Formats: sequence, structure tokens, C-alpha cells
Amino acid sequence: MPRAVVIGSGHNGLIAARELKEAGLDVIVLEARKKIGGLTETTELCNAKVSRVSYVLGLMPKALVDKYKIPLVRTDPFQVFLVSGKVIPFFVNPEYRRKVLRSLGYECLAEFDEKLMKVRDVLYSKFLFVERPRSLSELREELERSGLEEFATQSASEVLKRYVPEEFRRFYVYPSSLSAPAVVIAYYYSPNWSLVKGGNGTIADVLAEGLRVETEAEVIEVVEKGGKVVRVVTRDGRAFEADYFVFAGSPVALWRLLGKRVSPLGTPGWRKVNAVLEEPPKIEGLERFMQSIIDSEYGEALFPGLADPTRGGITLEMMGDFEDFVKDLRLKVRCYEEVTPEEVERDYFLPYAQVNHLPMTREYLFENRPGYHTEFENLFLASAGAYPGGQILGVQGYNVANIIKKKVTSSS
Ligand SMILES: Cc1cc2nc3c(=O)[nH]c(=O)nc-3n(C[C@H](O)[C@H](O)[C@H](O)COP(=O)(O)OP(=O)(O)OC[C@H]3O[C@@H](n4cnc5c(N)ncnc54)[C@H](O)[C@@H]3O)c2cc1C
Repeated sequence: MPRAVVIGSGHNGLIAARELKEAGLDVIVLEARKKIGGLTETTELCNAKVSRVSYVLGLMPKALVDKYKIPLVRTDPFQVFLVSGKVIPFFVNPEYRRKVLRSLGYECLAEFDEKLMKVRDVLYSKFLFVERPRSLSELREELERSGLEEFATQSASEVLKRYVPEEFRRFYVYPSSLSAPAVVIAYYYSPNWSLVKGGNGTIADVLAEGLRVETEAEVIEVVEKGGKVVRVVTRDGRAFEADYFVFAGSPVALWRLLGKRVSPLGTPGWRKVNAVLEEPPKIEGLERFMQSIIDSEYGEALFPGLADPTRGGITLEMMGDFEDFVKDLRLKVRCYEEVTPEEVERDYFLPYAQVNHLPMTREYLFENRPGYHTEFENLFLASAGAYPGGQILGVQGYNVANIIKKKVTSSS
């Protein structure tokens, strides 16, 4: 029975491990932290459950969500824009979503929605389940067929300026990706944004079922012989030999492990705050939409406890200006915690606290994002830092497992 060692128990490492186990390999997962899940983690705050770091699931292909039975708490509308007292809801059904946008006078947002969904379809049907990164020019060729090549040839900021009124542009892409090809907008745009029952830690719990996982097993050495990795060694001196190795942490962590020079990636500007409220929030005009993701001038916020009773409290999770949000909307906070980039870098083994392991910019997308193969024929990279890009996607773990399965078949 071929053996595989998966390094890192984020959702990608766990998917790789599950797929390899299902194919009959003898698999062990080595995780540096005390807990599994990486950035998909549920913790307790004032006796309520919060998704400590990542908090919504929307990009993982349906086939993987269904296969692993990840329990979603779907809300409809999934998202609302709140700007100067105006509320713009985004419903799950595409026709209804566009109809509502048009009825509110936002023909431009309806038209943009249609374009984004078409680009998204191309990405999901042809650019996800692959063995090697596909290039931006291949995407351009695909998009030319439907006259949407501007999403490959122009930047996110150029395309947003053409289609979206200024006050809404910030909701479509993070400032750090404004100069990236406009396809990044479609990458993030999903009608499937949902909560996960019990918080994002449930993703890891569900995926880890039946797997052998060693926690507090930080890999600090990779031993190679003749172009192949023969074993990895953990900080406490244990050695793990295998036929195949999957590294499912940040590519920067892998490059450092292999003794490579890595250019610094810069300081991230994000801020995540989790809170528990004394009483349900009452936000004028938003009463019907309190279970949706709320995008406003304060940032992105949601109240998972209102949609998911298993959270055990009225929770607020937010990336943005928490203090002003709470003050202006008169929310009564029982307790809160701020999760800082410094803490995530240190405690989640995530160099430079990069949300997506590597930036979502042209320098790190398509043919420029690391692929799954490495300089060693039996060592693979399977994390958000690998093609096609970050967030909770699961595709990287799945693709690497497929590559290994093929190798096993051809060598037997
Ligand atoms: C604040 C914040 C909010 C976010 N919100 C969302 C969101 O709402 N929705 C979304 O889709 N995405 C979100 N993201 C992004 C998303 O969380 C990540 O892109 C994704 O979870 C990465 O998954 P992964 O499995 O590839 O890696 P990770 O989850 O980073 O897991 C890697 C694992 O490898 C382990 N590891 C690393 N090095 C070693 C080693 N040497 N030995 C052993 N183990 C090692 C780590 O401890 C970790 O457990 C957010 C990210 C941040 C930081």
C-alpha cells in the first residue's frame, strides 16, 4: 500500500488526505498546531461559537460540498449592499436577483451580475480541475467566445469603473487586487456564500472524519535523496517516511523549508473582529436582511447567531471598522476579540498573514501562481497559495490527490 504524508490540516490538506485514503493509500496528516483546520476554525467567545478566522463558505465547488456533506446554513438574499441608507439585496436565484436589482434602479448592477456569472462559469468549468496552472491568455481565448475578454485583458479597477457606480465598487474586490486582471472579481463573486453550521471549524471536523492526524507535529525538515523526498522530520524529532508527500501550508512556508530565498510579501491591512451581542441588533431598513452578509462603508459584517441557533449566542463577525459599526448602529456588545495579522502569522503558521497565502495579484495568478508540482517528483503543493487561488476552495487538495492517484496507477 503506497504511503502518503500530508503536511498541514487546513481544508486543502484534509481534502487531499481524504481523497488519497479513498484511493487506498496509507495516509497520515501532520499538523503544526494543537488543533486541526488551519484557518477554518470554530472557537468559543462568551460561551458562543465563532468562526475565529475565515467565516463564510462560497467558492468551494458544489461537487466537493456535497461529497463531504458540509452542512450549510443558506440565507437568501445571501448578501446586501448598504450605502447611504439604501439597501440592495442579492438573492440566490439569478433571474430574481437581476429583476430586483432592476426594480431598484440598478440596471448596471444587473448587467454586471450577468457578465460575472458567465465569467465564473468559464472559470468553474475549465480552469479549476486541472493538473497544471492554466494561463491568462488561455482564459482570454475562452472569454473571447462570449465577448467577455475584457475580464482577462483589463484590470479590476478599469472594469469596475466601466460598469459599477463608485459607491459600490469596494464591495466587488479588495483594494489589493484592484490592479489584478478583472477576472478576480468573478473569482470572488458567488451566489453560494453561506454560513457553515456550527462555524467554519465544522468544515475541518467533517473533512477529518476517519483520518489519522498528528497535531503538534510541525515539519521542520525535508530530507531528499536523488530528486525524491524520502522523509520529513518534525520539531520534536520524529521522522515520517512515505512514497508521496503533500505540503498543504503556505508556499512561502514550503520555500523556506526547502532553503529558498523568498521575497517579503508586505504587511497586510486586514482586521477580523468577533463579538457576542447582548440583544438582537435592530438596524432600520435592514430588518428583513439581518441574516445576510452586510457590505457597507464599515466593511463586511454578518450575524451568524441569528441564522444558526447552534452558535449559542447573538454573534457578530466582521472584517472592517468594528468600533464605528457598533457605535453608529447602536449594538450592545457583551464581549469581543480582535484577531490580528501578527497573531495569525504566528499561530496559524501563515507567513506574512496572507489571507490567500499569496496575493491575488497578476504576479501570483494563473501561470504565475505556483502549480502543484515541485522540484521533487514526489512532493506536491496543495494549498490556497497554489493555482488557482485562495479562499476556502478545496480544489488544490483535490487536484493534487488526483495527480498522485494517477502516479500510483501508472507505477503499479
Ligand atoms: C482573517 C481571514 C478571513 C478570511 N475569511 C474567509 C472567508 O470568510 N471565506 C473564505 O473562503 N476564505 C476566507 N479566508 C481565506 C481562507 O481562510 C484561506 O485562503 C484558506 O482557509 C486556506 O486554506 P488551506 O487549507 O489552503 O490552508 P490553511 O488553512 O492555512 O492551513 C494550512 C495548515 O498547514 C499547517 N502548517 C503550515 N506549515 C506547517 C508545517 N511546517 N508543519 C505542519 N503543519 C504546517 C498550518 O498550521 C495550517 O493548519 C480568510 C482568511 C483570513 C486570514
